Amino acid sequence: MNKGKIKWLSLKNKYGFVTDEEDKDYYFYLTEEIIKSKIDIKDIVEFETFNHKKGIRAKNLKILEKHSVEKVKCPNCSELMVPRLVIEEKNDLMGTIKKLSICPYCEHQTMVLEESEIENSKIFSQLLFLFFMIMITIVFVYEFILN
Ligand SMILES: [Zn+2]
Repeated sequence: MNKGKIKWLSLKNKYGFVTDEEDKDYYFYLTEEIIKSKIDIKDIVEFETFNHKKGIRAKNLKILEKHSVEKVKCPNCSELMVPRLVIEEKNDLMGTIKKLSICPYCEHQTMVLEESEIENSKIFSQLLFLFFMIMITIVFVYEFILN
């Protein structure tokens, strides 16, 4: 028995990838039984491997631990899905990162804005704080030392 974490899955095309503890990815077919178990990204699973003509694959997956994350509603099919990162795209001077997610139900690409926005505003306020500290230092040096 191998232990791994669900990396990606497509409920539409009924397949997925599981990453084992050695960081190796295995393809698996989504059987009706696995779908019924409400398997999702980042769930910890137990699985068996077998030789397929296209390489070693995973089968008989069993969920050991459900990964609880806040689900988002797909704007295309309205199903609740686990946001998963597909691409990152830096798009403006502030370095806003666009995160795209693919819905496992309809495979529609959905924009998910996560921590990046918060992080950027954090960096911005830190820079602003640093700027004021420098200004205060300059004023202090000018007023009390040079005079
Ligand atoms: Zn969808």
